[in-house]
Amino acid sequence: MADGIVSNIQKFSLHDGPGIRTTVFLKGCPLRCEWCHNPESQSAEPELIFMENRCIRCGTCLTVCPEAPEKKAENPSFEFARYCRRCGKCVDNCPTTARQIIGQRMSGDEVVDAVARDRIFYDQSGGGVTFSGGEPLHQIDFLAALLQTCRERGMHTAVDTCGYCPGKHIMRIAALADLFLFDLKLMDGEKHLRWTGVSNQLILKNLQTLCQHHDHIWLRIPIIPGVNDDPQELESMAAFLARLSGIRQINLLPYHKMSIQKHHRLGRKYRLAHLDPPGRDSMEPLTRAFTARGFHTVIG
Ligand code: SF4
Ligand code: SF4
Repeated sequence: MADGIVSNIQKFSLHDGPGIRTTVFLKGCPLRCEWCHNPESQSAEPELIFMENRCIRCGTCLTVCPEAPEKKAENPSFEFARYCRRCGKCVDNCPTTARQIIGQRMSGDEVVDAVARDRIFYDQSGGGVTFSGGEPLHQIDFLAALLQTCRERGMHTAVDTCGYCPGKHIMRIAALADLFLFDLKLMDGEKHLRWTGVSNQLILKNLQTLCQHHDHIWLRIPIIPGVNDDPQELESMAAFLARLSGIRQINLLPYHKMSIQKHHRLGRKYRLAHLDPPGRDSMEPLTRAFTARGFHTVIG
């Protein structure tokens, strides 16, 4: 079976499809959403993270690093994202595990074996395995092989996608996955480009295609205050979705700040720290555009 790069395998997931699931996060994503909850999965390659709270400032990492331009022992976080070549020397020598590499090459058999260990929970709860990311279709051959093997072993599969990929890839995965979790951010094309780094035209086209060929789709919409929570935007989205088939439910996912630390650990700035997560009172009215069109709509 093909192999690929996995950033994490998370057991007992309760928010990535029905029942108890294992979520496999594959590395690589073509979008750069400012609010990304899994920034460690954006790059297709393994990446270094630095956990400042574990650092005792011994300076070993900078001493052993062949790339660090300045050996500032008092500042071990010194812009490592700019020069790091992921050689792993600082990880091997750090006495407190303050530095780690995220992203590991795994064979398909290793991934499926890890997932299958919790099969009893899937069977009891109606769960299974969800492939997420990053964008799992970014590693299309790896994903297809994983889905095929999970199907042969009788495990329910879901794919969480941003929809930005060649149309033929969507069609290939549509034939292999039991459920799609399709993320939609914005209908406004100019805003979509500004907030995610790419146009939404391909995403909307792929969603239309998918809906013609698959009938188990959950639409997931992250609600980001000041970005896509205005009634006009959500009305436009609901009107578009109402013309499609195959959508079983809509999940409105309230913005949260839990990924701030992840961005910092990667040495990146997080530009939305000033936003407050929307409360239940703010979220409830946003469901109306969808419930009015007959969609089963869930907050969270
Ligand atoms: S080696 Fe580890 S503990 Fe020492 S300065 Fe570097 S990150 Fe901090
Ligand atoms: S992993 Fe990056 S920061 Fe660490 S020693 Fe290697 S090049 Fe330097």
